[in-house]
Parts: sequence; structure tokens; C-alpha cells
Amino acid sequence: MSHNHEPTDTPGPAGVRNVVILGGACAGLTAAIYAARANLQPLVIEGAEAGGQLMLTTLVENFPGFPEGIMGPDLMQAMRAQAERVGAAFITEDAVEADFSHRPFRIRTQSGEEVRARAVIVATGARARMLGLPSEERFLGRGVSTCATCDGFFFRKQDVVVVGGGDSALEEALYLANLARSVTVVHRRDQLRASKIMQERAFTHPKIDFIWNSEVADIAGDGKVTAVRLRDRVTGEVTERRTDGVFIAIGHKPNTEIFKGQVETDAQGYLLPTHGMMSSVEGVFVAGDVHDHTYRQAITAAAFGCMAAMEAERWLQGEAALTPVEHWGTAEPVGESKAGAPKGGPGKGARKTARP
Ligand code: NAP
Repeated sequence: MSHNHEPTDTPGPAGVRNVVILGGACAGLTAAIYAARANLQPLVIEGAEAGGQLMLTTLVENFPGFPEGIMGPDLMQAMRAQAERVGAAFITEDAVEADFSHRPFRIRTQSGEEVRARAVIVATGARARMLGLPSEERFLGRGVSTCATCDGFFFRKQDVVVVGGGDSALEEALYLANLARSVTVVHRRDQLRASKIMQERAFTHPKIDFIWNSEVADIAGDGKVTAVRLRDRVTGEVTERRTDGVFIAIGHKPNTEIFKGQVETDAQGYLLPTHGMMSSVEGVFVAGDVHDHTYRQAITAAAFGCMAAMEAERWLQGEAALTPVEHWGTAEPVGESKAGAPKGGPGKGARKTARP
């Protein structure tokens, strides 16, 4: 655990912070930069493994501003340094408990520290579901990927395997088919879960073929992926298939366990923004992959972080007009008010994440 409490890192006299940001990756760090520059003195509970999914990525070539690309961990380090320079404070621990039933909100960290906040920005992200093979972990970033948009470019004119049978798998397969020489979708059943339209597109694509009733038993390689071993779930037979890359597309899981039952979510557990970036709990904002299962990009997560911070600031300003507060730097008690349904957030109407 490391605390980085800068001199500006002073909660108000009642120990209540203006903004606590949960999550220290693209969305959370961008929110921290904006909140700090608005003099909100944000505290980022960045997680024990801060940096999010970009920490598992190698070269990022689609984040604007880096003509030669930038390594995922370097981008995260730069964003964190920027947030720190403008005054954000950090706790490098997981948030293990959140109580949004009353204001100020309460968040407990792994070591038992309790943090209280007027506003919270939830930017805890999502994680790709993995197969659970040791070899998959070993080759992550060396031929195994969970994001075709991020890594597909490295597999131009090569042969790749996509694992999964849902819309994500077919979306990845169709994206990769524009770049790779061949795309083989490996699915554990003989029927796809994906929508009919996606199935039709994939079935008619000349570069995409399917292996049914099969699971990946192992991934082989020497420094980088060279083959997958597939087990036929009907016959039990194991065969080896040469490949340059394996894209795991068996779904994502939002990191929302500690907010369960407190904030409105969709059926998969993604938080639902209801007014701009505000969640169903007034004063709790959402940003990044924890609510966005459509775009899932570093740049979109960063943009959502910016939006959430700006909305949190405006909301706090509105609250301050109702509650006596001297200035942002000294957060005074806001009293124990019941957090209920939003009265109407700062955004103009609900944002709908339409599928592209
Ligand atoms: P999903 O619909 O849950 O599909 C996951 C797929 O992975 C299923 O085919 C499942 O197999 C397979 N799978 C799960 N665990 C596995 C394992 N351990 N080993 C092998 N295979 C495994 O997830 P998704 O495709 O990410 O989609 C999530 C939601 O987002 C869905 O509602 C989807 O419609 C939506 N979405 C829509 C679009 C679009 O419209 N363009 C794009 C992406 C996602 P089984 O089928 O046997 O369970």
C-alpha cells in the first residue's frame, strides 16, 4: 500500500472530501486531472493494480498525440504523473466497500481506511473474461489479446483465432478479417449466441471460418504464440492448429461488485448513467468501461472521465449554493442527507450509448 498525500491533500475539517475517484486508469486519471484543475482536491483510490487494462497492453497506436505509438503502461504512468502534478492525491489500494445510501458517501479501502466524499466518480473499469489457462496469461501481449481494435493491426496478413460465440467474438472476427489473412472462430458449442445479423455477416465473409464444439486446451509458442491446441468437446480429441494470434472474446465483466444493489445497473452489471454521467444515485458519477460496453477505448474512457469530472464540479457548485461552503478547498460537513433518486443532473437529458 502506498499513500501519496500531497500538501493539498487535506479533506475538509469534517474529513469529507469534495470528490473521491474510484479507479486509476484512463477514465479515473482524466477525471482526476479535471477535478484537480477545478480545485476540488480529488482523492483517487486507484486500486492495488492501478492502470487498468492498458497495463496489459504493449504498443498503443490509436491514442492521439503519439505518432510512434506509446506503450500502454507508459501512457498510464504519464497520465498519473499529470494528475499528481496538478494536485490529485492517491491511495494505492482497492476500494472494498462503498456506502452510497447517505451523504457524505463512505468508501472503505482494503486496509480499513474510511474515506468520506460529497461526490464520487466511479471509474473502476471492466475486465475481459479469460479462459483461465496459464499459457493464456503467459502470452498476453505476445500473441494473446482481448481487443481486436487495439491489437489487430499487429496481425496484418497473419492467421488468427478468435475464441467465443457471442456478438463480441463476431465483431472481433469481422474487424480482424479486414486485416488478417485468415480468421478462425473457435466456439465451444455448435450454435452461436450472437445476433442473426452478425452471424450472417460472419458466415458470408470469405476470410472467416468456424471450428465448432471446441475449446482451447492450451496455447503454444516460443516467446510468442505459434499454435493453439483444441479439444473437441464431443470426441475429446485434441488437435493442434497453427496460428499467429489468439483473441479471447468471451465477454467482459464490469468491476461493480461493491456497488451492487446501490446503483442502477443493466443485466450484465454495467452501471447506468441516468442524467448525463450521473448514476441513479445523486452525487455518484460514472466514467469509462464500468458503464460503457460499446466503445471500450482508452480515448473514450478518458473522455468519459473528463465529462464526469465536469459534471461533478457543476453538481457540487449547485450543492454549495444550497449548503454553506466557504470554498472548494475546505470541504465542510454537508450533513447526513439521504441519497435518493437524482433531482436532475447537470447533463442535458439521458445519454444513450448507441451501438455504432
Ligand atoms: P456473451 O454474449 O456473453 O457471449 C460470450 C460468448 O463466449 C458465448 O458464446 C459463450 O459461449 C462464450 N464463452 C463464455 N465463457 C467461455 C469459456 N470459458 N470458454 C469458451 N467460451 C466461452 O458476451 P459478448 O459477446 O461480449 O456480448 C455481451 C453483450 O454485449 C451481449 O448482449 C451482446 O449482444 C452485446 N454486444 C453487442 C454487439 C453488437 O451488437 N455489435 C457487440 C458486442 C457485444 P456459450 O454461447 O456457449 O455460452
